[in-house]
Amino acid sequence: MGNVFSVIVFFLGVFLMPVAAWAQTLHGITMEKSPLLFQLDLQALFIGSSLILLLMCFAWARALRSYSMAILTLYFAIKSLDILVLNGFSLLGVFTYNHQLLKTEGVLFAYLSNIILFGFTVNFFALKKYQLSSHQLMFRLSFIMAVAVPLSYLLDYAAARLLAQVLTSIGLIVLLYIAKNIPQNRLSIIFLLTLVVQLSFNFIAYLFNYWLFSAEATNFLAMLAFWLMAVMVAYLMGRKYYYHLRDEKLSQQQVVASVKASDLAQQKLLALQEESQEQLESRVQERTLELNIALQELEAVNQELKEKNTLDELSGLFNRRYYDQKIMAEFRRSRRNLTPLSLVLIDIDRFKLVNDNYGHLIGDQCIIAVAKMIKSLLRRSTDVGCRYGGEEFCLILPETDDKGALALAQEICQSVREQQIFADELAIDLTVSCGVTTYQQEKNVTPEAIFASADRALYKAKQAGRDQVQVSLLSEI
Ligand code: GH3
Ligand code: MG
Ligand code: MG
Repeated sequence: MGNVFSVIVFFLGVFLMPVAAWAQTLHGITMEKSPLLFQLDLQALFIGSSLILLLMCFAWARALRSYSMAILTLYFAIKSLDILVLNGFSLLGVFTYNHQLLKTEGVLFAYLSNIILFGFTVNFFALKKYQLSSHQLMFRLSFIMAVAVPLSYLLDYAAARLLAQVLTSIGLIVLLYIAKNIPQNRLSIIFLLTLVVQLSFNFIAYLFNYWLFSAEATNFLAMLAFWLMAVMVAYLMGRKYYYHLRDEKLSQQQVVASVKASDLAQQKLLALQEESQEQLESRVQERTLELNIALQELEAVNQELKEKNTLDELSGLFNRRYYDQKIMAEFRRSRRNLTPLSLVLIDIDRFKLVNDNYGHLIGDQCIIAVAKMIKSLLRRSTDVGCRYGGEEFCLILPETDDKGALALAQEICQSVREQQIFADELAIDLTVSCGVTTYQQEKNVTPEAIFASADRALYKAKQAGRDQVQVSLLSEI
């Protein structure tokens, strides 16, 4: 951006050159008529090119935001004015007719330009930071230059000019000494060279002016010195800017590289995280599956255990333990819902004889066959058939009244009586006796009392000749 701006300003300056020449002739700002034609052209060239230089430096200072460059621009401006005054051009003449002031105009610019050059040196090489003694020296020299300005009023023009030239030379020598002490690098060497050139030209101009008495040659030398210096200092600034740009580019590259590296590291981390996440997920899935299988197995085992706990192995009906739990639960429900609860006790008649006649294995098969018949006759899902013990069975019939229970018991009785039991190719005839009782919210009744009542009814049936059903009322107790 800064470069583009500089180029634009350069071309602007090139166009300004003829404008300056034209302005010069328009205002009649000419030297006393000179036989040398080139002098007019030289002055026009100087004004035009000085304007280019100043505009370029200004643009540069702005683009780089460089304080040193701004000081340098100011220095070039004042130095140009100094040289113009030397060539007979008066800037103060535009504003004042004070002869004394006009006389010392060039001297004023010479001192001012020196002070500004000291300022540039201090700023460019950061003397205040690295070389405090040099900085102080610059300050003292500036003070001397400032004091020399009012002193010039007391002297005539030639003497004032001589003093200015001598002081400028002393200033340049001091600057040379300081530049020599600055840690040697390319910039300080160029600066040193610039000073040497400036000093040499100063000396030559001094010789020309005071021994050869050639004002034109002196003025030409001053311009040449100025331009040489301008070129060298511009080169100096250019180098400095180049180094600055190079360092900036390098650090930018470093930043980009480190950003890339950190990006890469982040990506790697992310990939690792994803990988470990996937591994974790698959492991969790595996574990969940294993756990589910284990749970199913456990459930199956539990179910088996439960069945073993509640079922009678031989008959497949519920066992005595289950009866104890169930009768208590159904008794409570019956009492709560005010529904009847019936109990039927079934006992195989003269079973001892079966065992005695056919053996216990056949007896077992008879028990299984009777249990099967009982099971097939229990139609309600809520009816529960249990093997109470030995060849005795017990039916819990929730929400069943005395008539219903009696009917079911008679049906079972009839069914066993009418069906022959086949065991080991033997046809065995069996009968059963049943005792029925029904709980219908009678007071002071317990599950044990209900059972006792049914047992009493069974006893009655046995007493009355077996193969029959007898009913016992709870109120009879
Ligand atoms: P009743 O009931 O008609 O008075 O005569 P009973 O012969 O059936 O009398 P009791 O109740 O005294 O005898 C029951 C018999 O049942 C005694 C026993 O040998 C037999 N028994 C008990 N449990 C089993 C069993 O699990 N298997 C076999 N085979 N026999 C059993
Ligand atoms: Mg019995
Ligand atoms: Mg019996």
